[in-house]
Parts: sequence; C-alpha cells; structure tokens
Amino acid sequence: MDLAEIALKTQLTPEVVQQRTRVIYEHLLGRSRHLQSGNFRSIHGEDLATLFESYDSAFFRGACLASLGGRRLDFRVSTRMTSAGGKTFHYTPRTSGAKDWYEIAVSAPLLFQTFRDVNRPVTVCGVSCKDRLEALQRIFEHEMIHLVELVAWKNSECSAPRFQSITSRLFQHREHTHNLITQSERAKVKFGIVAGSRVQFEYEGRLYSGIVNRVTKRATILVEDPGGLRYSDGKRYTKFYIPLDHLLPERKSG
Ligand SMILES: [Zn+2]
Repeated sequence: MDLAEIALKTQLTPEVVQQRTRVIYEHLLGRSRHLQSGNFRSIHGEDLATLFESYDSAFFRGACLASLGGRRLDFRVSTRMTSAGGKTFHYTPRTSGAKDWYEIAVSAPLLFQTFRDVNRPVTVCGVSCKDRLEALQRIFEHEMIHLVELVAWKNSECSAPRFQSITSRLFQHREHTHNLITQSERAKVKFGIVAGSRVQFEYEGRLYSGIVNRVTKRATILVEDPGGLRYSDGKRYTKFYIPLDHLLPERKSG
C-alpha cells in the first residue's frame, strides 16, 4: 500500500493506538540525550527526528520516508511560535532543478509553559495529556498528518474532513486544536497581568510605570513619554518589552 492508501484505509482501535504511542513514548525517553522524563526540561530537533522515525514505522510502515523520495525533511523546536503547537512547512526552491523540502516545527513556549505552574486539565487534539511528552506526541501526530497530506495530495487542511478522518482513525484525535497554556494565560494566572493592567518595572536602573498592551513571550508595556510615538488615544508612548516576572503591579504613591 502506498502512503495515501495507508492514510485512507487504516482503522485502529483505541487500545492499539494507546499501546503503539506508549512504546514510542518509552523509546524516545530511552534514546534521547535531552529528554529525562515525561515532563522534560529540554528538547532538540533530533528528538523530533526520532519521533518521525517511530511514527513512520509504527503507523505507516515506513511509507512516509519512502514517499519523500530523498527530499529533505527538517525538524525545528521553535522558540517563537506562541499560539500554534506545531507547524508543517513545504518549501519550494526558487532555483529550477533544486528539490522542494519539508519542515516540521513544534512550539517550545507552549510545551514548556504547560505542566509547569498553571494546573488545569490539558488536551491536545481532543485527547487528554498527562505530561509534556504526551502533549508533544499529540502535536507531532497532528503535524505528521499535515506532512502525509502534503506529500500524498499536495495540500493539507486540518479543519477539512479528510484530515479529520485520518487523525481520528489513526490516532483517535477528536479535535484539531489544543488548549496548551499560552503566555497570556500564564501571565494572568501566575502574575495577575492582563492587557490593560497598570504595572511598574525597572529598566536600566530607572523605575517606569505603564500599561500592558500585549502579552506574548514578554509583555509589551506602553509608558507615557512626550518624546514617544502618538497612539490612538492621543497620548505619546514609548514601548518596552519586559519579561513577565520583572513586572510589578503599580503601587500608588503617597
Ligand atoms: Zn493543523
């Protein structure tokens, strides 16, 4: 069977999915130079390569690698992806004759903010996850199907029926979204910081007061400044990017 046939015809029971994915879980922990436990503290692209080999052999009989036909597949742990748990890219070279290639990236911020200090149930693809490695596996399974669709059909859409049929039959996925802990949720729960909060922070030895404009990896703070840029409220501000744990709630003076 070729890759498309395997994707379209495989139907696995929940027990088989659980057993195969558990073997992959243990295999990665046994082999990785970075992952020490289910709530690992570091991860490297080569761990994603290990996952790819394991999933390709356990679920696709190696047809995924074979269908790449020598085209490159890169793996990346992204420190910048703050809302998608993973992304799969298909790159087409500009120079004619060069081969196209693929890349699978997973979000380090989302993985490391989850199972850290905000405690609530976590689901990825509608499957409940009990640690960081399980969350990584669900993300990777989702991206693997993006790759399979791109290779087999040249297009992939996770909100479409074909994608959802494949992920449901192969991995028991129920959704194509995650509820991993985002920076803004963690900022709110851990530090009480939301957009609009008034905060203080020290920057190069000076204490500033400002308003939180946005929370991503850091908070964007607007500080009133006659020399700054004019914003829609008519006032002038200078923008600062400050790590969340450096922010203090504003203290009223006097
Ligand atoms: Zn997707």
